[in-house]
Amino acid sequence: SREVHLAARPTGWPTADNFRLVEVAVPEPRPGQVVVRNLVMSVDPYMRGRMNDVESYVPPFRLGEALDGGAVGEVVASASPDLAVGDTVLHGLGWREYAVADADKVRKVDPEAAPPSAYLGALGMVGMTAYVGLLDIAAMRPRDTVFVSGAAGAVGSIAGQIAKLRGSPRVIGSAGSDEKVEYLTRELGFDAAFNYKKGPVAEQLREAAPDGIDVYFDNVGGDHLEAAISSLNRFGRAALCGAISGYNLEEAPPGPRNLWLAITNRLTLRGFIVGDHADRTPDFLAEAGRWLREGRLRVDETVVEGIENAPDAFLGMLRGRNVGKMLVRLG
Ligand code: NDP
Repeated sequence: SREVHLAARPTGWPTADNFRLVEVAVPEPRPGQVVVRNLVMSVDPYMRGRMNDVESYVPPFRLGEALDGGAVGEVVASASPDLAVGDTVLHGLGWREYAVADADKVRKVDPEAAPPSAYLGALGMVGMTAYVGLLDIAAMRPRDTVFVSGAAGAVGSIAGQIAKLRGSPRVIGSAGSDEKVEYLTRELGFDAAFNYKKGPVAEQLREAAPDGIDVYFDNVGGDHLEAAISSLNRFGRAALCGAISGYNLEEAPPGPRNLWLAITNRLTLRGFIVGDHADRTPDFLAEAGRWLREGRLRVDETVVEGIENAPDAFLGMLRGRNVGKMLVRLG
């Protein structure tokens, strides 16, 4: 069995040299454990932070050890009365072909109800992030004009669609290529979109939202956040979800120069971590499940094959090679 280890900590942009593919034996499960053959694993932006030796809301990866993260697999050996061989489970031991997990740390999922990858995307942490961030943190109301950055990515593509489904008359998205911009307006129902690489964000946003925005879903930070602050109407709200434009910078990026507008325009800028909002899971699953069944929520994935290509998938995601959720299929 193969797994991916952290070979060296990056400064700035990570490279393939930061990872090492390692061959390991698959142990027998001890009492209370299961062996899982992973079918699909997630690569996520927050993993970049975990490559640094810095305590955050999740501990850093350890040098010379396997990385970890969301994965779905099939139980192939069980020493637990709670799980049987053949069960499909969601767990946190990705970046490896076989995982040995404590049965109480994995969650059984229904592979008939949705494909395994859905539990890493639309029906998992990603969908929850979009739902909670938009509806609870930014408290979006039906008439709000909504701006979503990172809009063609996993979280952003769902956040923008939920905004439409919840009655926003105008949803604007930004993304890093013309193809993605077209995808947003043609396929996902965004009312307007722009390529942030083609000109200043503030100008492009003002053009797309001449009457201002009421809600900003921030996946990017930096100049996107500054532009949104300038466009937010009175009592506007921003959900600070991520700041990917800064994750690979060696020096801290400058803060928004226009923060004083938060005072004059009575803005709410609120950060959040999805893990704190587990109480909303039933509401989310009920509503998102219905949208998916009715074909009103479109979910796209970019799938890379094989554990040996997992680092490449991760690095590609940081550079925008994905549309929708970036995943690695194993086995
Ligand atoms: P995505 O699927 O959106 O992938 C990352 C995307 O970021 C890329 O596709 C790329 O798209 C974009 N990007 C990369 N660099 C830049 C840049 N300099 N400026 C603008 N866009 C850039 O990832 P996720 O949907 O998984 O995550 C989106 C955000 O949400 C991240 O910031 C992540 O950290 C955050 N997050 C926060 C959570 C929370 O609990 N607060 C939970 C989950 C995610 P493009 O081609 O458009 O540049």
